[in-house]
Order: sequence, then C-alpha cells, then structure tokens
Amino acid sequence: MRLVRKDFPILNRHIDGKPLIYLDSTATSLKPQMVLDAMDGYYASYSANVFRGIYKISERATSCYESARERIARFIGAKKKDEIIFTRGTDESISLLYYSWALPHVKADDTIVTTIMEHHSNFVPWQQLTKSKGVTLKIWTTDANGELNLKDLDSLITRKTKLLALTAVSNVLGTVNPIQKIIGIVKKLNPACLVLVDAAQAAPHMAIDVQAWGADFIAFSSHKMLGPTGFGVLWGRRELLEDMPVFNFGGDMIKEVHRDSTVFADLPHKFEAGTPHIAGAIGLGAAVDYLSGLGMDAVREHEIEITSYALGKLSEIRGLSIVGPREAICRGGVIAFTMGGLHPHDIAQILDEDNICIRVGFHCAQPLHEYLSIGATARASFYIYTQKTDIDALVLGLHRVKKLLG
Ligand code: PMP
Repeated sequence: MRLVRKDFPILNRHIDGKPLIYLDSTATSLKPQMVLDAMDGYYASYSANVFRGIYKISERATSCYESARERIARFIGAKKKDEIIFTRGTDESISLLYYSWALPHVKADDTIVTTIMEHHSNFVPWQQLTKSKGVTLKIWTTDANGELNLKDLDSLITRKTKLLALTAVSNVLGTVNPIQKIIGIVKKLNPACLVLVDAAQAAPHMAIDVQAWGADFIAFSSHKMLGPTGFGVLWGRRELLEDMPVFNFGGDMIKEVHRDSTVFADLPHKFEAGTPHIAGAIGLGAAVDYLSGLGMDAVREHEIEITSYALGKLSEIRGLSIVGPREAICRGGVIAFTMGGLHPHDIAQILDEDNICIRVGFHCAQPLHEYLSIGATARASFYIYTQKTDIDALVLGLHRVKKLLG
C-alpha cells in the first residue's frame, strides 16, 4: 500500500521544513490527485447546473453527477441508485431520518435502542426524541474490552422497539461491530424494528454490502473516504424512503407546483432540494473508483497491519493506556489513549512541533468517555497512506512528550 503515497499531493509537501505525519484520518482523510482532478475538471470544463440546461455542458454535469450516484450505489451494494440520497454528510443523513422518518413514525410508547459508543450524530437525535415525543431510549453498553455483547439484544429489543441505531465502527474504541450478525438477531426478535447503521468509519475502510447486512438505512461521509468535505450519503430501502415525507423544500425536489398544491419529485430528488454539491458528488464518485481500484479487502488488510504494529509499539510506552479491543483484527484503524495525568491537549501540541497530527478531546463521543470514566483522550488514526515510519515517529514524539512533561 506504500505506493499510494505518491497519489496524495499533501504528503509530498513539507511544513516548516518537516514532512507531514498525518494520523487523523478518522477526523478526515487526505485527498488523492484523482479526486482533486475530477472536481477541478468539473469546475474548469463543465461547471453548469444539473437537470436544468438543454446545452452540452449542463448535460455533461448531469450525466457525471448521476453516474457518481450509480458508482456509489454499487460501492455499498445498493440495489438501485435511487436509494442513494446525497446529503452534507453523516450528521445530515441522520438528521434527515430524525425529521422525515422518526418524527412522523415514532410514538410515546415506542423504544429506540442505540449504543454507548455512538458519535453524537447518532446519539443526540434519539436522545431528543425522549424529550419531544416521550420515547424510551435504551443504551447498549460495552464490556470492559469495548465490545458489545450480542446476548444483550434479547432484553434490549422488544416488540416496542422501532429502531436500533448503531455504528459499524467506533471512532474512539475502534471496535468493529458484527453488523450482519446483529441485524440478523434483531430482525428475528422483532422483524418490524428498523436498523440504522452509522457507516462513517466503515465505508472508508472495509467492503460494505447493505443487502448482505440486511440494514434499513446507512449513513456515511465523503470526506472520510478520500472525497470532498460537505458531502455524504443516506442510503435507505426504497419502500421506506418512498414513505417518508420530504426534508427540505426548494427547487428540483418538486414535479409540479400550483397555487394550492405541490407534487413532489420521485426518489432520490424529493430529498435533494436546490442546487446540489455537484463537485462533491463527482469527487466522491472518483474516490470510490480509487478505493475500488485498490480493493476494499486490501484496504482493510493494510489497516489491520498498521493497527497491529501501532498497538504493539504504543503498548511498550509505560503509562500509556489504550481504550478498546486489544486485537487489531477486532478494530478499525484508530487508537485512542491516555498517558497518566498528562493532558491530551499538551500531548498534541508537543507532537505538532514535529508535524505529527493527532486528535484530542471527546471525539464527539462524550457519553462514551463518561461511561469509561475518563476525561479527554488522544487519538491516532490511520488510512491507506499510513506507513510504519509514521507510527515510529509518533512513538518517538510520545517519548519526547514524557521527557518534557512527565
Ligand atoms: N459518525 C461517526 C462514527 C464519525 O466518526 C463521524 C465523524 N467523526 C460522524 C458520524 C460525523 O460525520 P460528519 O462530521 O462527516 O457528518
């Protein structure tokens, strides 16, 4: 996987004379030249609006925009491209579900189940339903290893459960949840219970097949999988999406408007009001082409190799404590840790002197940190361009931190 580094222009640049050691791909990934070229190509050569123009460059923009939808659908194993709704990212995809699925469908007597390891974007909407609708929220907690016990589902899922909302991969613990198994159990316990998978940390890193999973909805973000920021996807089963009311109003999401009535557009356009992020779709289309070219199994294999190396090296640092599963095979390419009483912000600041980029804080998963009874954590995360020397640099940097602050 080392060869891919040449495709990422930012890795060939130095900052203050030093190379970039980028270990924050869970927050956002770097972008390969192929994605930059695809987006630049749109703006430079055919930057017209989609669906509206009866002229060549508009027709080309429409065809590239819809071709991206087709390739993204294929990338996640969706049956039809119409089930792919373009959004601003995972947050907006889940918010869309909150407004268009949950508010009209969920009643006071219903239960929603989520997990303690969720990003706020898949936690806060369901928590808010307890306040606005009096819904009961059950929170599936992890064992000491940061893993969910599937036996818990027997008590969590009842006839009253309307939705299980869970992440495929935790952005803090790194835990990879066995989504297909979980959904199989849930549907046996209550076939009417829908399952929403937050795939923000899965879609970039492993092969996804929404049909094989048996999911009802999944959400993910372009910028974590080599694509541009401000763009993402909600996938849903067609009949569910068809049954949901529109989310935003505006142009392109309507078929007809009369003085007293409006006929909304068909899927996916009824959820995509206004001029969309055309370059965003084209960029994500190029990103999934790039990832498919590498092969998602190779992407995952590289991630396991790097994570395994990092787990080994980091565990050798005295006083450093890693959260989440011990085995690389059970986790994504992310390692959150604490170092005794050292403040994570101080750690990150010292590492930054050598251009080593890590993330610190609650990583938008504050309930998880409270559950683990820890304050903020430092987090290093990896992707296809991460090499073992990046991990070596991190380890050296952490020894320097200890010398300065310890
Ligand atoms: N869910 C998970 C698991 C995430 O890691 C993130 C981003 N850190 C999000 C949701 C939110 O993604 P976005 O900010 O792109 O909407």
